[in-house]
Amino acid sequence: MKITFLGAARKVTGSCFHLSVNGLQVLVDCGMHQGLDSDALNRKPFAFDPRAIDVVFLTHAHIDHTGLVPRLVREGFRGKIVTTAATAELSRIMLADSAHIQEMDAQWMTRKNLRAGIEKAVEPLYTVEDAIASIPFFEKRQYDETYALDHVIRYRFCDAGHILGSGTLELWYRGDAKKKIIFSGDIGKKGNPIIQDPVHADETDYVVVESTYGNRMHKGAEDSLEELADAVRTTFKRGGNVYIPAFAVGRTQDLLYVFNKLVREGRLASPLDVYVDSPLAEEATKVYASHPELFDEETKRLMASKKGRTVRLRFTSSVQESMKLNQVSSGAVIMAGSGMCEGGRIRHHLKHNLWRPECSVVFVGYQAKGTLGRAIVDGAKDVWILGERVAVRSRVFTIGGFSAHADQKELLEWLGLFKNKPEVFIVHGEETSALEFEKQVKAQLGLRTRVPEMGESFEI
Ligand SMILES: [Zn+2]
Ligand SMILES: [Zn+2]
Repeated sequence: MKITFLGAARKVTGSCFHLSVNGLQVLVDCGMHQGLDSDALNRKPFAFDPRAIDVVFLTHAHIDHTGLVPRLVREGFRGKIVTTAATAELSRIMLADSAHIQEMDAQWMTRKNLRAGIEKAVEPLYTVEDAIASIPFFEKRQYDETYALDHVIRYRFCDAGHILGSGTLELWYRGDAKKKIIFSGDIGKKGNPIIQDPVHADETDYVVVESTYGNRMHKGAEDSLEELADAVRTTFKRGGNVYIPAFAVGRTQDLLYVFNKLVREGRLASPLDVYVDSPLAEEATKVYASHPELFDEETKRLMASKKGRTVRLRFTSSVQESMKLNQVSSGAVIMAGSGMCEGGRIRHHLKHNLWRPECSVVFVGYQAKGTLGRAIVDGAKDVWILGERVAVRSRVFTIGGFSAHADQKELLEWLGLFKNKPEVFIVHGEETSALEFEKQVKAQLGLRTRVPEMGESFEI
């Protein structure tokens, strides 16, 4: 097998690995780049012929793993897209949403060009039509079942514990199970709300592992809960709102669960007003609710208990409803996407409220280099939002314990659970994080490691 690292190599986003194996061409993930230079990277010609790809495996529905699928289909891909049922369902709504954002961005750029006297229409990266056209290629698979790709290659997804439907992919690629590679996908933190903990395979020859938090440790879950409760209480006392930029899929559902728990335990006053200002999050929450078989025991218990709703939850779908939220000046938690403030309704909320010292912005997820979220977290005094300079005067919290990713210790534990000594490819982390993680993997586990460069290939 020849494996080529086409994305998430010494960076976090744009996951895409190309495999040439047994006469087949396979992709594992086909993700979008986010942050610095992402537009150019997302428009760059593919390093392979999309028409020649036989299979795309998707590890989970986050856009940095799936976001270029519609472009792939538009450029002639006619193979199959293989993933879990929940990932297929979440991808359907997320790719349409992503396409919508692409169309809006292109319109905006075109208008901007016109104003500058440049008569050049900017084409969207892909359209809603392209996203819809990719759906028939999806094929749904069960966790823990082994399937055959041809007479030699077999594969299996097991629960990666990251978001609903997330999978670690095991791939046997020589006869009689002679060689095996595992793609970790994004690995969840143990005890993540709602979904199960990551499931682990016995052994493997090679493993491609994420390293988002390869150089960092999360605070304990309990500390993070208390920090969040405290952020809400003190902000409400100051007469402001709490704004949370959150991925519509995964993080939003986790936070809803967490707020319910905090109110139920009396740590936040009831009723707590929570607004989820994202039609995508509303759709995704429905997909979550339709898969109770994937929930962990605690969530099943909570769902079964007869206590009434403790959070006054409202989804705002229309733009009018969203704009009305500007009239809510205090006492509310408002969640909106995108998680790194790169697009979506959170930008409007930040434009209108970031300058208000009585408000707070709580970051609960990873902020990639070059994003608006990262600038705020890094302490910028003012930032540009939607064409305006806005002072950062709200209190800014970064609460790492809600990350849906394993931290350094958990990643090392995950790698250490193999009964043999696999060779490790470290991906999906910024360079500093990946390299620091590599050191730890060598020192603590004595495994052979590589941190591939973008475009680098290996014969394995
Ligand atoms: Zn993810
Ligand atoms: Zn990811």
